[in-house]
Amino acid sequence: MTTETRPGLSGLTADELAAWVTTQGEPSFRARQIADATWKDGGVTDPGEIRTLPGALREALARDFRLDTVHDSELRIADGGLTEKALHRLDDGQLIESVLMHYPARGASRERHTLCLSSQAGCAVGCPFCATGELGFGRDLETAEIVDQARHAARRLATDGKRLTNIVFMGMGEPLLNLDRVLAAVEALNDPQRFGLGARHITVSTSGVVPGIRRLTALGPQFTLAVSLHAARDALRDVLVPLNRRWPVAEVVDAARDHARVTGRRISYEYTMIGGVNDTDLDAQALADLLRGDHAHVNLIPMNQVAHTPWQASPMPVIESFAAVLMDAGISTTIRRNRGQEVGAACGQLAAERAGEPPAPAVARRRERLELESAAALRGERSEEPAPAMVGSEG
Ligand code: SAH
Ligand code: SF4
Repeated sequence: MTTETRPGLSGLTADELAAWVTTQGEPSFRARQIADATWKDGGVTDPGEIRTLPGALREALARDFRLDTVHDSELRIADGGLTEKALHRLDDGQLIESVLMHYPARGASRERHTLCLSSQAGCAVGCPFCATGELGFGRDLETAEIVDQARHAARRLATDGKRLTNIVFMGMGEPLLNLDRVLAAVEALNDPQRFGLGARHITVSTSGVVPGIRRLTALGPQFTLAVSLHAARDALRDVLVPLNRRWPVAEVVDAARDHARVTGRRISYEYTMIGGVNDTDLDAQALADLLRGDHAHVNLIPMNQVAHTPWQASPMPVIESFAAVLMDAGISTTIRRNRGQEVGAACGQLAAERAGEPPAPAVARRRERLELESAAALRGERSEEPAPAMVGSEG
């Protein structure tokens, strides 16, 4: 393990790079050459490969920056090659994941290559159906560590003459609890002089950090905002998304509604369907009542099975009748097929495997507690527990 202090090159703004080039006594066009080498087709990972630069400048670059911050990326392929899951090691040994999904052209829609990337190592929110939640919080990712996941995928695609078309912040971590770095990463991904992916092709998903949503609203449209709901009733959402104990569902939806009104962009709500837990008629009705009349879209996602929970995906007919209740209320709704189950593509599953499974008695205790908690929630009883530690009130 190293104590790496050199910043990642891809985390620099154009001005910061230009300033560095000046301190090296080099002409300004060198900044453009370095940027081209960093970004074109995912860029290079070794300064030695930047043949356009004089040797001394290549050495200075290697001394002052890391050209890549995600290492030893291990790939697992699933869905007949349509899903590629990468496990990346960071310089301090933390493990994070990104998932590249290929969607072949269909009818009028062109082929897409979507990357799901991580914003934190682990997550402090602790949603019990999520493998990352089970891991707990490691640390915030640096801007370059976020961006380098996209460069890694872009390099792999470039070998086939293809480009990344969409990015979703739906891997490990809660992006709105690392918002400064996520915003800087989105700026780099969006900048035509750097990664160059249009803002409309970037989606950031949050479990409901209300001050973060309000801060984004004040900034104006930056990307598509997705909000993970999973329950419309506080008692149940307290269990499924523990952040709900700090920012209850009505406050989350209020903030999302303001975001849609101010930015003119539709909000996307994510709802993971968990059999017998959040898929009842009562839940469908509560969700329909909550969102009726909103400029919103609901994605229903069958839960990916995670080892430490007693839960499974809702059966498809249940998901279909849940969707019908929403559509009858005039709410646009899509049922999503989950990708990459065979490689554990639900967020954090590969890293959780690496961290080692918890011992059987701990898993049994956890399952038992979740069964009791969800049963109480279904009766409408709210949790007494406070919101998870480390989840501050800041955005
Ligand atoms: N922390 C953010 C973004 C990362 S999670 C958030 O929660 O929105 C991305 C999405 O994956 C969320 O909607 C989350 O609820 C969903 N997810 C997590 N574990 C899952 C599982 N086991 N099955 C299906 N979806 C899951
Ligand atoms: Fe964190 Fe999102 Fe997983 Fe919840 S679902 S634990 S917020 S990564």
